[in-house]
Amino acid sequence: MDEIRISGLKIFAYHGVYARENEQGQDFILHAVMGVSTQHAGLTDDLEASISYEEVCEILQREMKEHTWKLLEAVAEHISIVLFAKYPILQELTLEIEKPDAPIDADFRSVSVRIHRKRHTVYVAYGANEGDCENQIQEGIAAIDRDPCCRVRRMSRPVRSTPYGGVEQKDFYNGVLHMETIYEPMELLQFLQGIEAAQGRDREHAVHWGPRPLDLDILLYDDLVYDSKELVIPHPEMAKRDFVMLPLAEIAPFVRHPLTGRTIREMAEMPMEKHVRK
Ligand code: AMP
Repeated sequence: MDEIRISGLKIFAYHGVYARENEQGQDFILHAVMGVSTQHAGLTDDLEASISYEEVCEILQREMKEHTWKLLEAVAEHISIVLFAKYPILQELTLEIEKPDAPIDADFRSVSVRIHRKRHTVYVAYGANEGDCENQIQEGIAAIDRDPCCRVRRMSRPVRSTPYGGVEQKDFYNGVLHMETIYEPMELLQFLQGIEAAQGRDREHAVHWGPRPLDLDILLYDDLVYDSKELVIPHPEMAKRDFVMLPLAEIAPFVRHPLTGRTIREMAEMPMEKHVRK
């Protein structure tokens, strides 16, 4: 990937854990490496098709001066969110913030935090079968899109299905959306759970197979394979569910499942035990 780089940008600001750092301020040195395709800008000689490093320097100065954070981690994270939201063509960012005069009792040249953030491609299944389902789904998806770390790219047509599991309840509304995010997997899970909760989902008291105002499941996250107690990617149940595979095949037919190696269309057309709700 092509890179646009800014090195050694010195900015006086007030970040730090100690009160005297917030009162007196100090110099910070920033280094940014922005991963973008510059080919179109190169062929057209048009700045609009690229990222202006002058404008980025202004943004970095403004963000560094307008806020006060304790941690360099927070400074770097905030600036990265601003840059990804501002520049849709930005694919990757490495941002390092040095604090050469950090108030520590040691002989050192500089301390710094360097973060690397990337735009990830994610497919999320949504479902609802309690309350005003269509409205909850719409509200939930709008909330995802409003978040500066996310962008909804495409949505499948909704699917309406009759629930399994023996609990007396209304029909399910399901579908899949394609989104981009700079959240890492666990951060994305927590963010989506916050949106579920805002639509009235109560995880503590939820009945297994029971009614859901809004359910959001991460199906695919780039080609990541991830397995922890709280989060499994690809979603282990996705292949068994027509109400996931059919809408996913509509918007991502040629995406390959990282474990089976098959395309989503191939998997959706395969006969297998389906319709099993977890
Ligand atoms: P559900 O009731 O289907 O929303 O699932 C609830 C639990 O599944 C959550 O508490 C998550 O920690 C866990 N989980 C595991 N993998 C995933 C995934 N890929 N997407 C969403 N939730 C997941």
